[in-house]
Amino acid sequence: MWDRLTPEERTWKEKAAEFADTVLRKHLREYDERNCFPEKIHEAAHDAGLMNIAIPKEFGGHGVSQKIIAVAGEELATVCSPSAFTMGFNHGSLQPILVAGTEAQKNIFVKDLLDRRGYASICLSEPDSAGSNLMAIRTRADRTADGWRITGEKCMVGNGCRSELFLVLADTFVDGRRSGLSFFAVPRGEGVTVSPNTDKIGFRCLTTPSISFREVGVPDDHRIGEVGGAEEILLQTLDYIRFGGTPVILGITVGALRDIVPFLETRKVFPDEPLIQKSHIQLQLGDLYSEVRNNPRDALAGGRPSRRGKALFHRDGDLETERLPPRRPRDERNRANVRLVRHRQRLPGPEEGPGRARHHDLRGNHGDPAVEPFPGPARFARQGWMALTW
Ligand SMILES: Cc1cc2nc3c(=O)[nH]c(=O)nc-3n(C[C@H](O)[C@H](O)[C@H](O)COP(=O)(O)OP(=O)(O)OC[C@H]3O[C@@H](n4cnc5c(N)ncnc54)[C@H](O)[C@@H]3O)c2cc1C
Repeated sequence: MWDRLTPEERTWKEKAAEFADTVLRKHLREYDERNCFPEKIHEAAHDAGLMNIAIPKEFGGHGVSQKIIAVAGEELATVCSPSAFTMGFNHGSLQPILVAGTEAQKNIFVKDLLDRRGYASICLSEPDSAGSNLMAIRTRADRTADGWRITGEKCMVGNGCRSELFLVLADTFVDGRRSGLSFFAVPRGEGVTVSPNTDKIGFRCLTTPSISFREVGVPDDHRIGEVGGAEEILLQTLDYIRFGGTPVILGITVGALRDIVPFLETRKVFPDEPLIQKSHIQLQLGDLYSEVRNNPRDALAGGRPSRRGKALFHRDGDLETERLPPRRPRDERNRANVRLVRHRQRLPGPEEGPGRARHHDLRGNHGDPAVEPFPGPARFARQGWMALTW
């Protein structure tokens, strides 16, 4: 779906497409049925140089641009989107360290981990209290003489069955006083219990166990960023994860289009005509196709939601090389988007009731995905799929 790619971007796209067609296609059913982490896929992905590609080279990755992540992620996801997610999870999970860690932390928790083909997971969500409302988390980290003691339960931890390092968001207490949210790098070890994979109806090879932390002691050098300084790290991390998720969701839509068109061409309906010749089918396909075509351009142009993604594209100079067509003024576009989303989801607007963003501190500042979801076809996917709001 990307019209203008540099030779490097095209090489990554082709590499990902070939991997998807050979390795993912061969194994996808097996891991869906077994409901477990796709080991064989990951071995092959490591060998093919397709793992951790956006992590900076000095910390064991390939240092590619965000645009390459988007292009390659889309190709993988057209064949098997859950596998694409499992292959990308280290990028998002390690963001707190890449954003706010010291050089020593980056070397120990990122470079050493990747050198031994290891995995990290990010632990934000909690049962009962904290999913989209992360300010309500109950996991706590108490200051001790030599570090921190962490206690709490996290759920839906992506790649959690396989990971050996957990980036845990916790409420910090110093001398019994609440000191705000902080991130901790917690190795799998004593006091950390990982449940079996949850039994989802989709995305089954993306393991999402619950993880309990029972008085887990970590030294102070496992704290990422300032005490109480997690909010900005979290926002940057969620930006990054959302951006990475968008092409995967786009890939689901592209894959669905690729699958459905041959069926529509061959399926005969009354009076003995291929289904694809029916005008309402053509309208639906055309609508979906035009959304899919426009989506990468929206992402490139800094469409919602990724402030960080936008910054990265600006830094890479992609906006200049893409020569985008003129766009409608932002105000007009946002009004249209919000109207569309409200219509599709039948949400009350601020004028009709208590607007959602006002109740939602984090998202109020940062774009509530319920009102400003992923751009383009992600909105389609969201209607069918999304409990996952990042
Ligand atoms: C495949 C998968 C992988 C995941 N991986 C991870 C992971 O690696 N780490 C991790 O920490 N978590 C992970 N999660 C959890 C994910 O972050 C949460 O599911 C998400 O944040 C939503 O939380 P929730 O499911 O508790 O929904 P809730 O917060 O209970 O929301 C339920 C619904 O209510 C809506 N809603 C929320 N607030 C409001 C409001 N104020 N007004 C009106 N409507 C509202 C939401 O949009 C949503 O549709 C994963 C989830 C999935 C499905």
